[in-house]
Amino acid sequence: MKKQDSQPVDLAEQSVTRLKGVGARNAEKLARLNIESVQDLLFHLPLRYQDRTRIQPIGAIRRGDQVVIEGEVDVAEIKFGRRRSLLVRLSDGTGGIILRFFYFSNAQREALARGVRLRCFGEVRNGPNSLEMVHPEYQRVDPDEPQQVEETLTPLYPTTEGVHQLTLRGLMQQALTMLEQAPQGLRELLPGTLLSRFPMQSLAQAVSYLHRPPPDADQQELLAGSHPAQQRLTFEELLAHQISLRKLRSQHQQIRATVLPAGSDLKRQLLADIPFKLTPAQERVVGEIELDLSKPNPMQRLVQGDVGSGKTIVSALAALQAIDAGSQVALMAPTELLAEQHLNSFSQWLEPMGIQIAWLTGRMKGRAREEALEVIATGQVQLVVGTHALFQDDVVFDDLGLVIIDEQHRFGVHQRLALREKGRRQGHAPHQLIMTATPIPRTLAMTAYADLDLSVIDSLPPGRKPVTTAVISDRRRDEVVERVRAACAEGRQAYWVCTLIEESEVLQCQAAEESAQQLAEALPELSVGLVHGRIKPEQKEQVMSRFKAGELDLLIATTVIEVGVDVPNASLMIIENAERLGLAQLHQLRGRVGRGSAESHCVLMYHAPLSLNAKTRLAILRESSDGFYIAQKDLEMRGPGEVLGTKQTGDMQLRIADLVRDQDMLDEVREVAEKMLQAHPLQAEQLVLRWLGRRVDYGRT
Ligand code: ADP
Ligand code: MG
Repeated sequence: MKKQDSQPVDLAEQSVTRLKGVGARNAEKLARLNIESVQDLLFHLPLRYQDRTRIQPIGAIRRGDQVVIEGEVDVAEIKFGRRRSLLVRLSDGTGGIILRFFYFSNAQREALARGVRLRCFGEVRNGPNSLEMVHPEYQRVDPDEPQQVEETLTPLYPTTEGVHQLTLRGLMQQALTMLEQAPQGLRELLPGTLLSRFPMQSLAQAVSYLHRPPPDADQQELLAGSHPAQQRLTFEELLAHQISLRKLRSQHQQIRATVLPAGSDLKRQLLADIPFKLTPAQERVVGEIELDLSKPNPMQRLVQGDVGSGKTIVSALAALQAIDAGSQVALMAPTELLAEQHLNSFSQWLEPMGIQIAWLTGRMKGRAREEALEVIATGQVQLVVGTHALFQDDVVFDDLGLVIIDEQHRFGVHQRLALREKGRRQGHAPHQLIMTATPIPRTLAMTAYADLDLSVIDSLPPGRKPVTTAVISDRRRDEVVERVRAACAEGRQAYWVCTLIEESEVLQCQAAEESAQQLAEALPELSVGLVHGRIKPEQKEQVMSRFKAGELDLLIATTVIEVGVDVPNASLMIIENAERLGLAQLHQLRGRVGRGSAESHCVLMYHAPLSLNAKTRLAILRESSDGFYIAQKDLEMRGPGEVLGTKQTGDMQLRIADLVRDQDMLDEVREVAEKMLQAHPLQAEQLVLRWLGRRVDYGRT
């Protein structure tokens, strides 16, 4: 007993079941949030904060705000529209707002009578006629007895089914009390020299601050994620990920792979056969891959190259190096259409050399599938092209030496590891080549993909005519329609992309259908096709193939056509409501044209008025077609509120850090990771456990 008391408690060793209210059932639910120890709970940080410390004048609130308001009910009425709802108009002298309830009891309705004073909390949205709150939290207030507002920002935690916000807040209180009593319970793992850099030094302090920001906390900073306490933890989190990816990387070096010697004859032959010369950028990347493949450890290389930079031929050359050495190659694309495109290119290039190619997709069933599996397993084919189906359990390779993954930068660490294990035979893992047209600025890439080597094809083949981009108001839609007519009259093809305001996919698809109908009526001489997310895959593929074959002049689509589709004859791209899309997405869409020899055009059609931000975005696109430049601008322009997408870059599931917002830290994170791995390997490992838990301890797989 005594001995234990003198030992400092380690909250990482204390199970959450020690907390009141956590029995076996709750423990199981918490485990779904990866919370097993008290430390895990404390590192379950608020996603956001709600400001319930102030009552906002209704006249000052805006769409998207989450606010507390207080006012008097002017009128309450039941509306029978598409959906019966109770509408309560609340005003406070500065303005008015509608509270909308779809579910309500009679008692509730009666209580919300004219003259009643209410305090509400909720998110402000645009309603049909005015601002609204849908199902706000509310309470009656007695005007003579003013009630308190919250004293601190209210933390909002990531939750899971069966674990409520309030439960988490309650448990957190207990954990914070434990922490107060034993501040040493959270072990300091960062090297001391580094700690002196952070204004808020103790880990315990930073953690409790974030769960319970004091009333005088700088709320703006907290909401923006730039508070020193957040930055302190952000650094730790980024460091943990970096360390884990580095460990993974050094692990690769210990795995064996088949040596695929450089100087392949087949490669030389293909280079002589193709009607063009590699660009210097392609040559450099081909050289990097050649060297990797000739080593006895598996290559793990990410090739980034803008749309049209010529990644396919680079991957074909890699494939030949493997095939020449007697190995099999698997080439995987995200959609059947892209896979088919690759099948065509590779057949054209490799079949004349006597190389056998198999095709495998999820749709293949029965005999065709069995036959494919057979020739793959017996090694009768040297190359297999397909979709994710390539890596289903019953697909067995004879001797898989190289895996090529196209357009899948979201392909995460786990999938890469699973692939490696799948292709592993007699202790030999396949080499992996991952290609993406999504430009990722270097610092970001070096962080999110620290387990990979990076190659960049940073120039386009010569003779490409840049796509001329115009920014046009949708008031001039008729002129745009005429442009489509003119382009198609010359035998060219065009895309018309509908990007809608609606969040609902159903509504988006409806709107695309309407556009398609209108365009078909306006352009009766053209054959028009339509693809959107709710059209069955087979039908979608069919429409795409017809467009590719030139049977359709105009393709109307939602943003589903984003990746990789190659129709050189398409020379006009219209993007409706272009102001709604981000830079990266617009760049990808525009990359669908300008792939042939014709002058190509992109029309960014917008709906006025444009926000300053949207105006800048469209101007950047008009002026530049350089994917990396655009990606960099994208990063610079995005505020912390707009960076959601990057939270999941690669498969780093970040709790507090944000790769965009915190990019200034990344260089130092890499440096410190290196040092910690060398000088403090134990702490490094504990840091990984703390932030990534057992579930994503990449280094242990
Ligand atoms: P992406 O990088 O977008 O996958 P592709 O590999 O599809 O680009 O290449 C786009 C087009 O450019 C193809 O038609 C390809 O044959 C052609 N291409 C590739 N490299 C060169 C080159 N060095 N010179 C001329 N054309 C090239
Ligand atoms: Mg491609």
